[in-house]
Amino acid sequence: MIVKMKTDITVSEFENFKKKMESLGLEVKDASGETFKVVGLIGDTSKLVESDLYAIPGVMEVTRIQTPYKKASRVFHPENTVIDVCGIKIGGGNFTVIAGPCSVENHDQIVEVAQAVKASGAKLLRGGAFKPRTSPYAFQGLEAKGLDLLVEAKKETGLPIVTEIMSEDMIDRFVKDVDIIQVGARNMQNFHLLKALGRTNKPILLKRGLSATIEEWLMAAEYIMSEGNDKVILCERGIRTFEKYTRNTLDISAVLAVKELSHLPVLIDPSHSGGRWNMVEGLSQAALAVGADGIIVEVHNDPEHALCDGAQSLKPKRFDNMMKKLAQIAPIVDKKM
Ligand code: PEP
Ligand code: MN
Repeated sequence: MIVKMKTDITVSEFENFKKKMESLGLEVKDASGETFKVVGLIGDTSKLVESDLYAIPGVMEVTRIQTPYKKASRVFHPENTVIDVCGIKIGGGNFTVIAGPCSVENHDQIVEVAQAVKASGAKLLRGGAFKPRTSPYAFQGLEAKGLDLLVEAKKETGLPIVTEIMSEDMIDRFVKDVDIIQVGARNMQNFHLLKALGRTNKPILLKRGLSATIEEWLMAAEYIMSEGNDKVILCERGIRTFEKYTRNTLDISAVLAVKELSHLPVLIDPSHSGGRWNMVEGLSQAALAVGADGIIVEVHNDPEHALCDGAQSLKPKRFDNMMKKLAQIAPIVDKKM
């Protein structure tokens, strides 16, 4: 970390600053010139909060060199992480497709969709049981019953299941029955939930928050990893911008940024980003081309009557066509499907 200080800093102010830094185990290296006063802080600065430094008299400007996250950082873990979910490898050159309805609605719906997406090559089944809806009057999900139905769909198809958790009190049930626990965009900074999930051994699909920076997203991953669970899969699902035509703006460059900064696998959600079913195929192709490790996509057997997100859901037939095209493109961009 580099700290620019007031040029007229007093000797006692400087000594106070130095003592504080040394008490944190950091070495203070003076790199001042004739007209400026600059010091370098050497050592593990991950526990330092920049804004706290500004409270120390004499400090003018703080520049971080090391990232504030360590376990999620590629610097300390150069090789890509590959996460094994019931024998399916996420990362490591694979393009994994997770598909299913936004919400589990009833037995026949989830099983029918599961069978269809499996036949088209999806490796895991998604389906929301606990739904984080903007309106409290909208369909909130079948909750525990939805989990029962997902378990049945898994039994009938063999597809591992991915579903969203909203509160800590459901962790035991999720650990028992769910193969990847999803943390939705709205809970990306629910730090208690993240820490509690960090104490489990389950793969966690961590969606990017509605307006989260890449650093905030990686810090959320760090919360999970700091408690001992390093099985984190990131998911870019579009961020909020001024644009209204699409539901969110898919930040395709986030995949490249995350790949540079972190070793964790990263998926794209082409459904919640565009918010329109006719954009899903193009965004999925973009995901494959940009080097994402897969997609999580909404598929519904009757989108018109879906209880949630019908407008962005693909019908099984369209999903099948999309999968065929993706399978043709995959080898060109060195991905296995
Ligand atoms: C979802 O996957 O159904 C969902 C609610 O996504 P997000 O958290 O990205 O909005
Ligand atoms: Mn949805």
